Amino acid sequence: MQIVVTNDDGIMAPGIRALVGALKDLGDIYLIAPTEERSAIGHGITLRDPIRTRPLLVEGAREAWAVDGTPADCVKLALNEFVRECGLVISGINNGPNLGTDVLYSGTVSAAIEGAVLGAPSMAVSLASFEFGDFTAAAEIAGILTRSLMENKSSLPPNTILNVNVPPVKKELIKGFRVTRLGFIEYEDEFDRRIDPRGNPYFWMKGRLAHKEFEPDVDVVAVAENYVSITPVHFDLTNHVIIDRVKKWGIEEYKL
Ligand code: MN
Repeated sequence: MQIVVTNDDGIMAPGIRALVGALKDLGDIYLIAPTEERSAIGHGITLRDPIRTRPLLVEGAREAWAVDGTPADCVKLALNEFVRECGLVISGINNGPNLGTDVLYSGTVSAAIEGAVLGAPSMAVSLASFEFGDFTAAAEIAGILTRSLMENKSSLPPNTILNVNVPPVKKELIKGFRVTRLGFIEYEDEFDRRIDPRGNPYFWMKGRLAHKEFEPDVDVVAVAENYVSITPVHFDLTNHVIIDRVKKWGIEEYKL
């Protein structure tokens, strides 16, 4: 099976190298990832510039390409140009959490979603800390879940990916797996307001996570309780339940 591995931290990131190591015995690995870090780029694609690629030799990968583009570019390129029959797209292992509403900004999750858009079963894996830095347990978990995805992919609708977050602790402290829903992420103190040498204000985005949800089936809570969180995420953004309510506004009867 051909497995496309990508990320948003860049092809040199330790998380993606750990992922290649964990998946190399499950299929032929096509490592196709951004040359530079493109975290929080969301689902952006490159239309106004050429997308240059450079082959690399990476242990465990059948082919490796550094791409001057976004994570979604990488998956589009991989599935259209580099891989004949893509069996899976696995994105990560991201350095940092991708939980709740933050998945909207995530390049890691967007790469997996692009895989699903193009018809491949896909999964995003993140280590839920910017400081922890030890991908050993997360890589083992990525391997376990990739095997499970291979066995059960027929039960996953084509518009749905798995978003996985691994708690940033040693393996012995991870309590198990929990299937979750996305929480609502709120930040306190989102910007640092500073003054430049000419007296003009500028802003630096930061923010501290404000925990407002405590149900155990919320992804943020599961990770805080040291469970691996697995959220099925789909890209149908239509709010189907509300369609009838908006119809009742009568706008469809309005004569232009
Ligand atoms: Mn990242």
